[in-house]
Amino acid sequence: MLEKVLIANRGEIALRVLRACKELGIKTVAVHSTADRDLKHVRLADEAVCIGPPPSAQSYLDVPSIISAAELTNSDGIHPGYGFLSENADFADQVEKSGFKFIGPTGETIRLMGDKVSAKQQMRRTEVPTVPGSEGALPEDPDEIILIAREIGFPVIVKAAAGGGGRGMRVVHNEEVLLSSIQVTQSEAQAAFGSPVVYMEKFLQRPRHVEIQVLADGQGNAICLGDRDCSLQRRHQKVIEEAPAPGINDALRNEIGDACVRACLDMGYRGAGTFEFLFEDNAFYFIEMNTRVQVEHPVTEMISGVDIVREQLLIAGGAPLSIKQEEVQLKGHSIECRINAEDPRTFMPSPGMIKTFHAPGGHGVRVDSHVYSGYTVPPHYDSLIGKLITFADTREAALVKMRQALDELVVDGIRTNAALHRELVTDSSFMAGGVSIHYLESKLEHEH
Ligand code: ADP
Repeated sequence: MLEKVLIANRGEIALRVLRACKELGIKTVAVHSTADRDLKHVRLADEAVCIGPPPSAQSYLDVPSIISAAELTNSDGIHPGYGFLSENADFADQVEKSGFKFIGPTGETIRLMGDKVSAKQQMRRTEVPTVPGSEGALPEDPDEIILIAREIGFPVIVKAAAGGGGRGMRVVHNEEVLLSSIQVTQSEAQAAFGSPVVYMEKFLQRPRHVEIQVLADGQGNAICLGDRDCSLQRRHQKVIEEAPAPGINDALRNEIGDACVRACLDMGYRGAGTFEFLFEDNAFYFIEMNTRVQVEHPVTEMISGVDIVREQLLIAGGAPLSIKQEEVQLKGHSIECRINAEDPRTFMPSPGMIKTFHAPGGHGVRVDSHVYSGYTVPPHYDSLIGKLITFADTREAALVKMRQALDELVVDGIRTNAALHRELVTDSSFMAGGVSIHYLESKLEHEH
């Protein structure tokens, strides 16, 4: 069992990790930038270490500072949260080489899944369905490339193997522009990610984003905690997530869950992870794996009763999984709205002091947020100030609760996207369930 965990993150997820540690009797160390002295988890942690100035590159991404803070405080584990260094394989290696437990998979696994070509190859090995496309990196020979594209059928999407964050991708609609588009994507990929390797797959026209949550202990046990639908996105950023994904039958859900579990066992996966899929015409197509806890993990916790962060900590401490697949029972429906400090129409960030913060509450309402009245949202980081999560027996009832919760929420002093959420939870298409990943952007285009 871990004794003291350093939380290498900030905001709501740092607080989430701190809470799980406290419940397990694990001591906590908060590391923070000079802009983040007043973060809630910094105040609640057993120890706090300032690791640098506001820019992330000099604080939350500064590996030597974080490792020194772990040494200084005698921590034995490091939780990376999400974003920042959470999917940085070199960081994971460095943490373990320095004698600490990295609360996540091995650097080797992160590297394998971080490269989209090797990740897809790994999926094929264990028969996780992938998007039809090139077997791996594209060959050099233009004729061969054209043959591959013809076989897949246009439109195709050219993607950087090392890409991330929705960047390094280009949709190609016809053969005439195929080779030039590939060249542009290659040079962009080289500039942005340091690798020109690209691959090609079928461009799905109206998919949903459905993902599968897994937990594995690296000791031969892995389980699946069902799916989440995260199709409501703007610029590849998720806005609302829910579990389970509406309209997917249990047989299909179990089949894809089993495939993900197989993949975990095959690669010796350790920790929490998410397999992301595009879902179209009742079929799943793997696009990538996230080797960390995700922002939207609470909706899965609500319907499964499993505390994902607690499991992460126990697994990193060397314990085998505490739950068996047969014991996983998914029940009810959960929805999460991401509350951002931003203008609800222009989406411009809106940092500043929150004069009044009033969180909603009541049965089936959960608020994961680090902010409080008098807290100043700094301009240096992402704009997520909290997550509103509701849980009820049915999707309709969870939506009713969300409407009520959004009505109760008060954030004065800065702008938030709460108004957008209020609109979305009464939107007839969203209420019907199963909209595609393009729905939100086209709605915004038409209405605003
Ligand atoms: P990243 O790591 O940059 O997030 P992903 O592979 O997860 O890259 O893709 C990001 C987004 O790009 C997806 O959520 C989807 O909206 C779109 N996308 C990726 N591949 C395809 C595809 N084959 N067909 C249609 N859309 C795709």
